[in-house]
Amino acid sequence: MSFTVGVARCGDYGAENVSRAVAEAVERAGGMPETACEDALVKANLLSPAEPERAVTTHPEVLRAVAMEIQKKCGARVHIADNPGFIFTDTAELFKKTKIDAAAALDGVSRGLLADRGFREAEGGGFKALAGARVSARYLDAAFCVNAPKLKTHLETEISGCLKNIFGTADTATRKKCHNSRSRKRLADAIVDVYSVKPPQFHVMDAIESMEGDGPSHGLPRKTGFVLAGANALAVDWVAAVIMGYDNPPDIPLLAAAAARGMGPVSRGEISLVGAEWDELPVKGFKKSSGYVRALPVFLRGVGYRLVSVAPRLDPDKCVRCGICARVCPVNAIPPLTGAGDDFPSVEREKCVRCLCCHEMCPTGAMTARKNLLARLIERSRA
Ligand code: SF4
Ligand code: SF4
Repeated sequence: MSFTVGVARCGDYGAENVSRAVAEAVERAGGMPETACEDALVKANLLSPAEPERAVTTHPEVLRAVAMEIQKKCGARVHIADNPGFIFTDTAELFKKTKIDAAAALDGVSRGLLADRGFREAEGGGFKALAGARVSARYLDAAFCVNAPKLKTHLETEISGCLKNIFGTADTATRKKCHNSRSRKRLADAIVDVYSVKPPQFHVMDAIESMEGDGPSHGLPRKTGFVLAGANALAVDWVAAVIMGYDNPPDIPLLAAAAARGMGPVSRGEISLVGAEWDELPVKGFKKSSGYVRALPVFLRGVGYRLVSVAPRLDPDKCVRCGICARVCPVNAIPPLTGAGDDFPSVEREKCVRCLCCHEMCPTGAMTARKNLLARLIERSRA
């Protein structure tokens, strides 16, 4: 079986450059599938109210270009949306900071939240790690969906791309349950469970300026210079992982979990890369997420998860006491803030499962991801 991934180079977010690159990548991938739908959904990554320059969210120019491609293909009305979760209730701020309104300024294009029609229980006979998942009704009902992730590192899943972006269609309770998996393999299976509910028909990845280091919220922007497109999420993520410097992308548990379920390529030979050669992809010196598990042999990974620790630690100077960390914690390891003047969040270590959701969602970077000595040693030896 062959999975085509279209690749186009793009040096910046100038509107013309991005439109050209998205159109090229889509065409090289074989084009978007034929569809007679009137309404299309673009699943963006709008993780938090962050400016596009921070590389936390899909860039509005990429979303605009994707909307244009859909309209070119089938003349559909396009709705761009995401589900940043219950913690960011100020949607005006979300749309303003991410500049998503610029993307939705085209005729026939709108933007909103995936939660606007509520969530419902998803059919999932093949679930491995979840008993059930509640997924956005708007997403489930969309006749045609294009997944438009941002390429980022992720402290838990190593890569945040096509597969991970669809995890954002689940409701907060489902996501909390997954983050309480206490093993990277189970978390990977849970993310693939959510993905398997309703795979989007097409994927266009914003890898023009990606995130390296401690993603998906607090890493650093890194110019990588690509737009990727394809009909298979795992194939596109595979190519993205090579851009990040992975020699063997299935070393990433999330990609291995999807491959094990027959969701795409199991070897590089099954991917037909159009628009670039494999050896042109890796971005020199790209800083992966804390790769301590990758640094251990497969049979030691379970032990590694316990011994090589990355845990949350508060930097009180940056904390604005918003209480978000307490609200996102899947195991209530951070008691709710009382509102008293000297009340800062504190992590109950014995309860903490080190999912780092508090770090990911902290708006100011006050909840840092602190590596223990072994993790730092392994990271240094890798570097
Ligand atoms: S650590 Fe971050 S999320 Fe938690 S209260 Fe402080 S600023 Fe808010
Ligand atoms: S304190 Fe933070 S890292 Fe620990 S379980 Fe809660 S959200 Fe996860």
